[in-house]
Order: sequence, then C-alpha cells, then structure tokens
Amino acid sequence: MNAPTDAQRMEKIVSLCKRRGFIFQSSEIYGGLNGAWDYGPLGVELKRNLKNYWWRVMVHERDDVVGIDGAILTHPAVLKASGHVEGFSDPMIDCRTCKAHFRADQLAEKKGVRQCPNCGGKDLTEARQFNLMFETHVGASAEESSVAYLRPETAQSIFVQFKNILEVSRKKLPFGIAQIGKAFRNEINPRNFTFRSREFEQMELEYFCRPEQGMEFLEYWKEERLKFYENVGLSRANLNVLDVPDQERAFYSKGTYDIEYDFPFGRQELEGVAYRTDYDLSQHQKASGKSLEYFDEETKERFIPHVVEPSAGVDRTVLALICEAYTEDQAPNDKGEMESRIVLRFSPRIAPIKCAVFPLLKNKEQLVAKAKEVVRLLRPDMTVFYDESGAIGRRYRRQDEIGTPFGVTVDFETLGEKDPALRDTVTVRDRDSMKQERIAIQDLSAILLERLR
Ligand code: ATP
Repeated sequence: MNAPTDAQRMEKIVSLCKRRGFIFQSSEIYGGLNGAWDYGPLGVELKRNLKNYWWRVMVHERDDVVGIDGAILTHPAVLKASGHVEGFSDPMIDCRTCKAHFRADQLAEKKGVRQCPNCGGKDLTEARQFNLMFETHVGASAEESSVAYLRPETAQSIFVQFKNILEVSRKKLPFGIAQIGKAFRNEINPRNFTFRSREFEQMELEYFCRPEQGMEFLEYWKEERLKFYENVGLSRANLNVLDVPDQERAFYSKGTYDIEYDFPFGRQELEGVAYRTDYDLSQHQKASGKSLEYFDEETKERFIPHVVEPSAGVDRTVLALICEAYTEDQAPNDKGEMESRIVLRFSPRIAPIKCAVFPLLKNKEQLVAKAKEVVRLLRPDMTVFYDESGAIGRRYRRQDEIGTPFGVTVDFETLGEKDPALRDTVTVRDRDSMKQERIAIQDLSAILLERLR
C-alpha cells in the first residue's frame, strides 16, 4: 500500500529547509543548477551526524569491516568491466512539442494514449537509452584516450581494491569494506527536492562471504539496516521492505530488498540491499587479468567471494529524517497562551545542534558570563548554540524549529540568589515534552552525552 502523498507538507518542509539553512539550491543566485544542492550550516551538521553514525555502527563497532575512501575520477576500464559503460542507462523519451526529456516510466497515459507529463502533448519520440554517467577528460588533451568518469556509485573502487585490502587487513571471510562518498548520475529528471539529484552521496558496504552464505547475509543485512533507520529516528511504520521481483532485479543478483520510506511525495527507495553474487569481482578479474580470488586456509580452496551490498543514499536519508521530524503542535508562549509551533523532532543522536544555552536576561552581566562558561564547558563534547536575544519563549521556539533537543537556561537561581542550594545549577528543557529539570553544571555534560549517544 502506498502512503497518501501530501504536497502541502512537502512545500512547508522545503521552505523550512531554506529558511533555517538546511538545504539551498546550488548556484541559486545564477538561477540554480538542476539536480545539485548545497547543504547550509544546519544541513551539513545533520548530514555529518548521519554519516558518522553509519560509520560508527558499520565500521568502528565491528571486527569484520574496514573502511576505504576511493577516488571519484574513475578509469574507464573499471566501468567497462562493471557493465556501466554499456548498460548504465535509463530509457528516455522526448516531447517534440515542449522539448522536455523524461524517463519512459514517467510517461502519462490518458485513455491508452501516451502523453507528455509536462505539457500533455502527444507527439513523442520512441524511447532510447540514455547513459547516466558523467564523462570527463583527464589531462590537457580531450581525446578518446583521456576519458575518465565521475563514479556513478562508490562500490566499484571497493571491488577494484579488494585484493589490496584483503592483504593489508588480513581479514578472513566473511568481512566487509565500507565507503561513504560522492557519486554522480546524469539523471534525466532530477526531482522531489534532493531525492533524485545528479550529485549525491552514498554509504555503501560490500560484505564478502562464501557462496553458500549469500542468502543468509542478505537477510542479516536487511535486518541490520532496518535497525539502523530506527536508531536514527525513522519509525518502523514509515519504512517498508520491498522484495524486488526476479524480473526487476539485475541479472546477476540472486535477491534484492529495497528499503523504502513513506515520503510526503510517496513511497520511495532509501537503500538497496542486494546479493550481487560474485559478479563484480569476476568481471574485474576477467578484464584486468589479475587474480581476485580468496584462499581459504582451512579448506585450502581458492574461489571468488560472493558479496552482499547494503547501499544507502545519504541525501535521501537526510530528507527522510527531516520529513519524519517535521511536526506542528501547540506550545505556550511567555504569557502562557497556546501558540502553534513548528518542531523538528530529530533523534538527539542526529540533531544538528545538541544544546542551546540561554542567559535568562542579556543585560545581566553575571548571567551572561555564567552562560558563556556553560557554553565553553559543553563545546568540546557537542554542538552548542548560544542565544541571548529576545524573550526566552521565542528563543526556545527558534531552537524547536531546528530540532535542538536540549535548552539550558542560566537564571538567578544559578547565581545562588534565591536558594544557595541551587547555586551552579541550570534548567534543562526537553524539546518534545517541554518539561524542565534542574541539573548541576558539573553534571551537565555527562548527563547530556548519555542522552545523545
Ligand atoms: P533509483 O531506482 O531511485 O534511481 P537505484 O536503484 O538506481 O535508485 P542504486 O543504484 O541502488 O539506486 O543506489 C543505491 C542508493 O543510492 C539508492 O538507494 C539511493 O539512496 C542512492 N541514490 C541513487 N541514485 C540517487 C540519486 N539520483 N539521488 C540521490 N540518491 C541516489
């Protein structure tokens, strides 16, 4: 069942992203570059937190995975062997009336007649294959021999470096190689905000195993990846696992799951978990003439490992996180009257700013000095935003809108003016429940860190 779409909600999210500095259109002052996006001050923090958490659970917390950071510029032989030069294409159709290009599966149909989804025109070309790779030239000459590609996925450098990494890491099967990095696809129709871009980031793991373990690890990784999404704050109810049918899978894949998310524009893929057999390593062994075999010391067998690949999109996940977090509810203002507020209910783990610190009044030197001391104390451990301007309710509201989970206020009690027992304590306000608690400054960092893990 596809979730109902909600264009209005999506519009509000896109506008909040721009207004608060999560995501801007790339080259905006020149009219924008279609399919490219720039992450602003908050977007870059959110994206980093997501990537760091992925790296933590996929690499650092495991014994069986190591990382790499491969080049974006790719030798054409790599992408010939992988099949991308020949076959990494989408069927494209042009409208002769409005000159729009679109993917064949985006064609509108009215009473069995094919129509342009842009202008409704019926004068359309036949579908032809359009290769999605960006080609460039390396060095001063622009000849055939200098062609290189911007990688269309991060996976291929993992396959190509398989032997080197096997040797240096001394891992035994099953083990994985992980990478996070940019990938480029000249998508025919970039759309749905950052969902389909021409430049994007992937988080990929290639998990190598014995052939008979492939199906088992496919199931294992699907489950692990679902847990990951829940751990960054996506609710299970908004996630869906699609078991990709035989006819829609790559010919070499023995099983693929798409992990999908119910975006306001519909149910769409976040990540593919694919059992790719020994296809990639075999292709590179054949084309390069270099052995990419694994020697099993126990059984004395030599063979090409099989691979299961969980391949996630950073930008799509960031977008899902924002869509999931976006909430409108009611909160009291400084006079105690209820007002509507926008709140991004990010999991504290991935929230761009972890803690905001406010002196109750900005014209009381001691409050300001103490608040700045709290900021200095917290900064080595987390992202902190200091704000002294405006009524306290307004300051909370500004932080709610960007998803800051904790608001720390330094007030007269902190200075010990009312009750000496409360000296050097602050109030900590929780973004979601809006409840406040009093915490000693010396315990603040440890308590907040525990909630952010
Ligand atoms: P789609 O069918 O949506 O084009 P795909 O199946 O071609 O995606 P894969 O090749 O499996 O995608 O890439 C793995 C992941 O990379 C995707 O699940 C997605 O999160 C991300 N990704 C792929 N293409 C794009 C894109 N154009 N913009 C943003 N992210 C992308």
